[in-house]
Amino acid sequence: MVVGIDIGHTHIAVAVARTDGQVLAEGREAFDVDDRSGAALDAAAQLVQSLVGDRDLPMTDVLGIAAGIPCPLDLTTGRTCPLGDHPTWAGLDAGEELARRIGRPVHVNNDAEMGAHGERRFGAARGCRDFIYVKASHGIGAGLVLNGEVYRGATGAAGEIGHVQLAGARGLCRCGNLGCLETVASITEVQREFDELRLPGLAYRAGGSLAAISVNPVAARIITESGRVLGRVLADLCTFLNPAAIVLGGELGTSGQPLLSGVQESIHRYALSPTAHAVDIRIAQLGLRSELMGAVAQAIQQALIRA
Ligand SMILES: [Zn+2]
Repeated sequence: MVVGIDIGHTHIAVAVARTDGQVLAEGREAFDVDDRSGAALDAAAQLVQSLVGDRDLPMTDVLGIAAGIPCPLDLTTGRTCPLGDHPTWAGLDAGEELARRIGRPVHVNNDAEMGAHGERRFGAARGCRDFIYVKASHGIGAGLVLNGEVYRGATGAAGEIGHVQLAGARGLCRCGNLGCLETVASITEVQREFDELRLPGLAYRAGGSLAAISVNPVAARIITESGRVLGRVLADLCTFLNPAAIVLGGELGTSGQPLLSGVQESIHRYALSPTAHAVDIRIAQLGLRSELMGAVAQAIQQALIRA
């Protein structure tokens, strides 16, 4: 048995699975994670203990545990380095903190990287050696798989595409810079635009389904425009890295055709032609479970290493 944990900005999810990846039990709860790291880690550990306990199995039967967290990790120290002012997440050894609470070792990675692992093992990127997984949600991050390997960069901060600067944008970003991609295209921005229009059909809140709302033509336009802006940045990544696929995940990334069309339009308009033709743009097959299933895949890996 292995356990995968997915901690997002607004939720905590846990899956208990067999070492072949078959999920035995799963739980998900809404949680305001950003300013309460201690409480979030407590809640994640409790959810693990209750799901494992429900199966009448001792924690010692758990062969591997992996967790994705919504924060970059500094590979040189193993500690978190949050973007923006989230003091409770600064310099935290999340693996150690979870291990202390659960009583078993816990392997930790950034959530977008977990999403890439999930889609590669169980979803839309199976068999793919060069692809970019994009988690487009409240923030926007990417997990890079290049030549069959996850690429983390020199210190682990690779893939933070939400903080690429957009020409002409002036919005203040949580990272302190002006005009980052996240300030124009994110679930938070889409929600703000819905609120501004005050249309009853656009009553979207976290936990609701953006896919259901995107059938509204006004909502579809707003979401397509977000896709175009996101696609503008992804087009440059295609020109630079020549990936075989881009997998769109997260609440915004999986919201459906309007978002996908916007991304495709910009990539075909702005990426160098051979790279635009080479890339297949797909919606995450695992929906909002890419990160959770990536944590399961990593937990299986940990179990194999220990065996
Ligand atoms: Zn930023």
